[in-house]
Amino acid sequence: MAENKRDYYEVLGVSKDAGAEEIKKAYRKAAMKYHPDRNPGDKEAEEKFKECGEAYEVLSDADKKARYDQFGFAGVDPNYGAGQGGYGGGFGGGFGGFGGFGDIFGDLGDIFGGGGRRTATRNAPRRGEHVMARLELTFEEAAFGCEKEVSTQRIENCAACSGSGSADGSVETCSRCRGTGQVASVSNFMGMQMQTQSTCPQCSGRGKVIKTPCNTCKGKGKVRRTNKVKVKIPAGIDEGQSVRVRGEGSVGSNGGVNGDLLVEILIRQHPIFSREYMDVLCEVPISFTQAALGAQIQVPTLDGKITYEIPEGTQTGKEFVLRGKGIPDVHNSRRRGDHRFTVVVETPTKLTREQKDLLRQLDSSMESTPKLKKFFDTLKDFFD
Ligand code: ZN
Ligand code: ZN
Repeated sequence: MAENKRDYYEVLGVSKDAGAEEIKKAYRKAAMKYHPDRNPGDKEAEEKFKECGEAYEVLSDADKKARYDQFGFAGVDPNYGAGQGGYGGGFGGGFGGFGGFGDIFGDLGDIFGGGGRRTATRNAPRRGEHVMARLELTFEEAAFGCEKEVSTQRIENCAACSGSGSADGSVETCSRCRGTGQVASVSNFMGMQMQTQSTCPQCSGRGKVIKTPCNTCKGKGKVRRTNKVKVKIPAGIDEGQSVRVRGEGSVGSNGGVNGDLLVEILIRQHPIFSREYMDVLCEVPISFTQAALGAQIQVPTLDGKITYEIPEGTQTGKEFVLRGKGIPDVHNSRRRGDHRFTVVVETPTKLTREQKDLLRQLDSSMESTPKLKKFFDTLKDFFD
């Protein structure tokens, strides 16, 4: 079911860069076309009507739209392919930061009379929800890759009742909805009366009633548990990128597959290095005599110190490049970016009397440098 979901932009027939007004127009047009009042008894129209309502719900909300653009359905739908209700908001585990994922069905419920998309697929196989986590790495761990244990909270089948929710194995068909999980209700949509199927309140849409609920899971058949996963981080990963571990999300329902674990990467600041895509940047202080005379200097890189010969007459702020000493390409670790370092000339501050005298002698013996000469020539033109 979840795999077959159509892209929200495709559903509304708009391009990915469509503006709010265009999206609204497209939705109104589609909603009128597929509205159940105009297509009585047409199941396909009803599905299409729900489909575009769901698409509009996401694309009309800047926040949800941004998450959808980044993560797809997983970003906006905590039950993406997942089963029973009541587990929304499972994102984040102990990491926080992904709040708000669970609210979309609340909003949908307002429009569609409480049922939302879930009623149609309640008993179909559903993929478990994806679980999000954040992981902070050091600069070097991100550059060279590593293996980390990530601890999250996910929904698993209750071991005590093997996921049935019943303490003694007795499960009966719900009398109110006769096992369908849905009841009919009438609601108002954009000023029109409309009949909607909504979740059966007696069985919460499960179609079954458990006489003696399992003590461990209180009849839900599922429990929230801590899941520890070893995650391989590829060399060259950058801040904001995610690593997906298939099947380490919450358990599926009605035979659906598990969701995935999505680990978002954060990178701690390094005291010396910074990063620009695959290049490593750093500053190397040099003395003014080294700058004037040239020198062999030690340059810190990801591979350790490298000796580099700077030429005489090097200016402060000059950038040098060590090819292939940067960060590996996350898609091909044999390719590496460059190490770019900038030399910063330090002016001496604690000179002895003798040293100052030497410098004065030096100064009086020196001709004006080309830059200085040009500067004063320009000044003269300016004031004359
Ligand atoms: Zn149980
Ligand atoms: Zn029922």
